Amino acid sequence: MTKKQTPRIAIIGAGPGGLTLARVLQVRGLSAMVFEQEASPTERSQGGTLDLHQDTGQKAIRMAGLTDEFRAVARYEDQRSRLLDKNGTILLDEDPGSAGDHPEVDRTELRAILLDSLASGAVHWGCNLRSLRPMSDGCHELIFENGLRETFDLVVGADGAWSRVRPLLSQAVPLYTGVTFIETGLDQVDEEHPAVAQLVGHGSMSALAPNKGLSAQRNGHGHIRIYVAFRCPFKWETEAGFNEEQPEAARAWLLKQFADWHPSLQALLQECNDHFVVRPLYMLPVGHRWDFHSGVTLLGDAAHLMSPATGQGVNLAMLDAAELGWAISERQSLDEAIHTYEQLMFPRALAANRFADESLNVFISSDAPYGALTHVRQHFISGQALD
Ligand SMILES: Cc1cc2nc3c(=O)[nH]c(=O)nc-3n(C[C@H](O)[C@H](O)[C@H](O)COP(=O)(O)OP(=O)(O)OC[C@H]3O[C@@H](n4cnc5c(N)ncnc54)[C@H](O)[C@@H]3O)c2cc1C
Repeated sequence: MTKKQTPRIAIIGAGPGGLTLARVLQVRGLSAMVFEQEASPTERSQGGTLDLHQDTGQKAIRMAGLTDEFRAVARYEDQRSRLLDKNGTILLDEDPGSAGDHPEVDRTELRAILLDSLASGAVHWGCNLRSLRPMSDGCHELIFENGLRETFDLVVGADGAWSRVRPLLSQAVPLYTGVTFIETGLDQVDEEHPAVAQLVGHGSMSALAPNKGLSAQRNGHGHIRIYVAFRCPFKWETEAGFNEEQPEAARAWLLKQFADWHPSLQALLQECNDHFVVRPLYMLPVGHRWDFHSGVTLLGDAAHLMSPATGQGVNLAMLDAAELGWAISERQSLDEAIHTYEQLMFPRALAANRFADESLNVFISSDAPYGALTHVRQHFISGQALD
């Protein structure tokens, strides 16, 4: 780029999107400051496993020059997926084998690869953005909760679902999807819970019945992450007596909701040994976009938060980041780069968000599991919808 040889670039958020952008800029000879609200990389658990798709997440990894690092931690053996009904009958058992193109990686390990690849000091921890203010020269001043103020030529909001950059560009707010997850987990599954290990297999399983489901996914290090899903009004579970602060009462409450399910599936709730965390699922309106704004853009969940039903969120966040980083390094000006990136990102996000919404409405619906079975056969087995 020629107009500003060394633009001052701020990235808000050290999630997979923000870190991928920082890395791609570094590879392309540019630098950025990443501001992250968390105090350190270990402040909170980063959550479960992710499968990186060939044409999105893995493409971003290639653009970031991290293929070898990714291969060293990716679990190519854990790509199997199963769909069951509440009686424990297996309706679908897909094994893409070693040729499968969506290997699993634990979020913590993905974040570690990205962090280790950055120049030291690139990430500024403990910097919670409060707001940003347009300046008369076209730059934006960032104002942080810790009192820090800095001015940048380009601000990228990679700050997730509840982005504080987004209000400058759009009035959209995340909407409740009508589905709530309760997340928990199980450690030492192979040694101490062989029946559960066999149920989940090498990959993930979902058992569905009308308006509810139980899913489990194999993470690294013998851990299994479990999601209980309900289609329900917002905060229904609390009003119906679920209290995550009282684990044994919470377990009993969950078992009551699944009282007519097969014991092999109830075992996920009986044997889980992690905290319960309630996660209402949110999405931005399908087709969310904004008018071009000089010097500011969004990527990942900040731009197109969608339900996790299709496993595309991280993949798209990383591809957005890689393409934006590439455009910044190639284009004549930052504005041209933003424009190029947004023209690619908006239609891709629209299609993905529409598909995630449709899939969630099929998976956790009155028609489950048979509507889900048809949907998976149509869209996932061919692999067409995954990227
Ligand atoms: C239950 C569940 C399961 C999921 N499973 C999958 C899956 O299997 N596959 C998949 O592809 N996707 C999945 N997703 C979606 C995926 O988690 C997101 O799409 C992805 O993390 C988005 O990455 P991101 O970098 O845009 O945002 P985030 O990962 O949300 O990162 C944003 C970062 O910004 C920081 N931040 C936020 N506000 C501020 C602030 N004010 N100042 C400074 N920093 C700030 C946050 O601390 C965070 O580090 C799942 C989501 C959920 C809820």
